[in-house]
Amino acid sequence: MDRLMGIYNKLYRHYGPQHWWPGDTRFEIVIGAILTQNTSWSNVEKAIVNMKPYLEPEILHRMDVNRLAEMIKPSGFFNVKANRIRNFLDWFSGKGYSFSRLMEMDVEELRKELLGINGVGRETADSIILYGLGKPVFVIDAYTRRLFGRLGFDMPDDYDDVRVIFENRLDRHEGLFNEYHALIVRHSKECCRKKPDCANCILASDCAAAAEKY
Ligand code: SF4
Repeated sequence: MDRLMGIYNKLYRHYGPQHWWPGDTRFEIVIGAILTQNTSWSNVEKAIVNMKPYLEPEILHRMDVNRLAEMIKPSGFFNVKANRIRNFLDWFSGKGYSFSRLMEMDVEELRKELLGINGVGRETADSIILYGLGKPVFVIDAYTRRLFGRLGFDMPDDYDDVRVIFENRLDRHEGLFNEYHALIVRHSKECCRKKPDCANCILASDCAAAAEKY
């Protein structure tokens, strides 16, 4: 079995399913993916509560951008993020505000178009594709780099080079990619923190950093 799959199995056995991504609709997940940039999820949740009555693409697209910014204030960088949401909606309107149309698109083409939206970076685009649309791309974030770097994996600087490592070594399945990323975040928050708790880590027997007595 590939080592990456072995690590997944240990994390899953320990933590169980994470039920990601929190969100009642695909659109709410997209908005959450944009709002979560540079802030904690608890701040995003407060912004989403404010937005709930308006969480339809056409309604939000018609809304004055200053009003939108006011609603998402708890998520921080609210003027920037309001414009990012507006940019996404400008693009999404060209698709008839239809998630079915996005889901019919080739993943690489979809990714390319999302990355063409001002303010949508690779992690955000991949979160939208994986969690919003249920398509298999592996989301890379700072937690992934830190955890797997410590475990002894080569972590190239380029986002896509890291993403391809996971996508090539694992079965390309959206359920697996969804759960794996969520488990990485969980383990990184609870155990492999900035100051890692190696003494209580389920991955310690397989970890380069623990072996060096981190
Ligand atoms: S053993 Fe320590 S460094 Fe390695 S994964 Fe666990 S917490 Fe992180």
